[in-house]
Amino acid sequence: MMLRLSAPTLSARIESDVLASTLAKLLGSGRAACKADLVRETGLSRTTIDTGVRFLLENSVVRRAGYRHTPGRGRSAELLELSADYGYVLVADCGAHSAQLGVYDLNQRRLSSGLVAYELKEGPERVLTEIAAEFERLLRALPHRPVVTVIGLPGPVDNRSGTIVRPPLMPSWDGFPIAGFVGDALGCAVVLENDVNLRALGEARAGGPLDGPLLYVKVSTGIGAGIVTSNGELMHGADGSAGDIGHMKLASQDVPCVCGNTGCLEAVASAAALTRRMLGAAPTAPVDAADLDRFLAGLNARDPATIADVKEAARSIGEAIANLVHVLNPSRIVIGGMLANAGDDLLATVRGIVYQRALPLATRELTVSKPTLGIRSGLSGGLITGIEHALGPEALNTRSSTRTHLEGIA
Ligand SMILES: [Zn+2]
Repeated sequence: MMLRLSAPTLSARIESDVLASTLAKLLGSGRAACKADLVRETGLSRTTIDTGVRFLLENSVVRRAGYRHTPGRGRSAELLELSADYGYVLVADCGAHSAQLGVYDLNQRRLSSGLVAYELKEGPERVLTEIAAEFERLLRALPHRPVVTVIGLPGPVDNRSGTIVRPPLMPSWDGFPIAGFVGDALGCAVVLENDVNLRALGEARAGGPLDGPLLYVKVSTGIGAGIVTSNGELMHGADGSAGDIGHMKLASQDVPCVCGNTGCLEAVASAAALTRRMLGAAPTAPVDAADLDRFLAGLNARDPATIADVKEAARSIGEAIANLVHVLNPSRIVIGGMLANAGDDLLATVRGIVYQRALPLATRELTVSKPTLGIRSGLSGGLITGIEHALGPEALNTRSSTRTHLEGIA
């Protein structure tokens, strides 16, 4: 038996939908603004670019946006940009108690935003109906309809079926057809993603190119992580559960967890765990938004017992992250979520433990910081996910009514 060797895929023939998708994404990322830019960026012939652009114009993915005159050149270049007519990207970044909503065009402009408060335990139908209704309210003032909605949820997401699977924080959501329900309500495609994955993606794509994996750790009601590879893509794992670090076992702990195991990081070091300790509640007792607010008020008031609890939690989180550094060798670690946002105690302690525990080769270039996008990381990651879905070969294919124009490109 021969062993398989890794080799890049080469093809002289470019699939028409892949061509259109590539050109649209180059225009959407600002790397190209006219046909000459597209020729330069892709190395393809002017004829091939002409055909791809014609398809994008005919399907209202791209529109003409005036001319750019370059001094010394005889002809001015016709500018192209993604068209609002193609439809909007809606993003719902859902936490345990509220969702931030954003309506964007394909050029990444935010057209409208909103906030919906709820408790996830009210169940999927009620929460998702409220979110869809708020989106409809935001869309009422705008001329176009959505092409895709991206929903980030704090649970284990099965992207293929558009559901979440046995989520410890929201048991009534298990297996509910979330993508189908929202898609019917809003009349567009729906992409479901884990909330921390969206934040990780948003952070990784903000600013310059990523020079190594990025690990985003959210410390909030629960604890979770998102991993972005050096290529800037989310690492989902085989089933979508990569980065679910809240249920890693801490060797020294045996506190019962909502997942049914004991000694999980989340059962010991999450904001919910610290709030239960403050209330003297049982280890798996439900915690609502009002309880969490009381805990955060104590932290903001610099209550010594609360600060000591946060630092102890931070040591457990730091040790878990130091272990992950040995596995992933990230270049950037971002610590976000409610507990990280409330002061610097968590970040400082985690950073100290990671540098102390991880081996020098893994920490030479490593940075540990708060999110550069603040609380907007999740919305930004959702926007990227939405645009890349809308401009993906499959979506363009579905959209196209004039596919024959593209057949036969070599
Ligand atoms: Zn657990």
